[in-house]
Amino acid sequence: MFSKILIANRGEIALRVLRACRELGIRTVAVHSTADADAMHVRLADEAVCIGPPAARDSYLNVVAILAAATITGAEAIHPGYGFLSENADFAETVEAHGLAFIGPTGAHIRTMGDKISAKTTMMALGVPLVPGSDGELKSLEEAREVAAKICYPVLIKAAAGGGGRGMKVARSEDELEEAWRLARAESLAAFGNDAVYMEKYLDRPRHIELQILADTHGNVVHFGERDCSLQRRHQKLVEEAGSPVLSAEQRDEIGEIATSALRKLGYRNAGTLEFLYQDNQFCFIEMNTRLQVEHPVTELVCGVDLVKEQIRVAAGEALGYGQKDITFSGHAIECRINAEDPETFIPSPGTITMFHPPGGLGVRIDSAIYTGYRVPPYYDSMVAKLIVHAPTREAAISRMSRALDEMVVEGVKTVIPLHQRIMRDPEFRKGEYTIHWLEQFMTRTAAG
Ligand code: ADP
Repeated sequence: MFSKILIANRGEIALRVLRACRELGIRTVAVHSTADADAMHVRLADEAVCIGPPAARDSYLNVVAILAAATITGAEAIHPGYGFLSENADFAETVEAHGLAFIGPTGAHIRTMGDKISAKTTMMALGVPLVPGSDGELKSLEEAREVAAKICYPVLIKAAAGGGGRGMKVARSEDELEEAWRLARAESLAAFGNDAVYMEKYLDRPRHIELQILADTHGNVVHFGERDCSLQRRHQKLVEEAGSPVLSAEQRDEIGEIATSALRKLGYRNAGTLEFLYQDNQFCFIEMNTRLQVEHPVTELVCGVDLVKEQIRVAAGEALGYGQKDITFSGHAIECRINAEDPETFIPSPGTITMFHPPGGLGVRIDSAIYTGYRVPPYYDSMVAKLIVHAPTREAAISRMSRALDEMVVEGVKTVIPLHQRIMRDPEFRKGEYTIHWLEQFMTRTAAG
């Protein structure tokens, strides 16, 4: 086992990793920008190194500074968290070239899955079902027209390098195709420096269901069930549940078997998530995330597992020590992402938190790095906390979440707490009847009403 780990991240996820290390008896090194000198992960770590000015490209994305910090502190491994360098294949390889362990998959697997076209081609060859679409990259508008005619409108043009819902445009008919093609490519070039695009059938009422996978370096691969992340705004998740209100245990076993056997054949290691769209009882793979997800706590609560500890153990070469039949699911968990944003316009609201009172009680978990007096910096993601609840049934989990949201106090910045309170009270949400388009319709419906 490692004796010291450097955490190449900030905010709640840096704290999450730090807590796992503490419980495993591993010393921690925090890195931080000058804007985060007073951050919780810096205060709680055994050692902290300033790696640059506020802008992420000069600090949390600064590979040279992070490696220097690891070297001078004698860290043996780096945990990248999510975001920042977590899906950067060159970073993973550079870390290993310096004799440190990267707590995640190999650079080669990160690279394959980071390009959505190669991810889909790889998964198809391994027997995973896909959304109907183009056979790889679309080389021309002509080809886009031909594929769209074959799979039928509406279609979606998606960036091969996509992420965060960017570089994705719908064409509902042939008239809209040229514009979608042009915009998706331009947005992708601007965001990712790459204008390769592909096409998928645009599904009109899917749910977003993803599967949590864990693999060791001895050929053992298991899954920890699904998360339903259909509640999204502009393709960004806001509420996540485990399990999905619409999936049976048999369906979970079936897709779990397909996914684990694919990753076993691939020789994948560490944690990963296969994302699917689910409609008419069909799973269609859309992408794989080769890292820990923001929403991993809902899985931890229903499975009784600490996924970060598991990541660290398998990165240190330990075998899982359990199999699929040992993984059981108990009750229901829900996560609300608490963003410092206006609850109607979603405009970020950085500033000083003048009062923070976290909710508590049975089955309530808060993953957050904020405190009273903390200044939410304007430079990074606006998520300031994750409120997660666990209860025996979905109904009880919703009541618990409503109660916890009522107790939670964040003053000084705007947050999306009022929106979450409205969602938890909504009869359609309570029935579990929603698709990826539900939240935007709900916002229009409740704004008008
Ligand atoms: P990103 O990497 O940018 O997050 P994804 O491929 O994971 O992109 O898709 C993000 C979200 O976009 C999905 O959760 C879903 O809401 C929507 N989406 C993606 N592909 C399709 C599709 N073929 N039809 C309908 N919605 C889609």
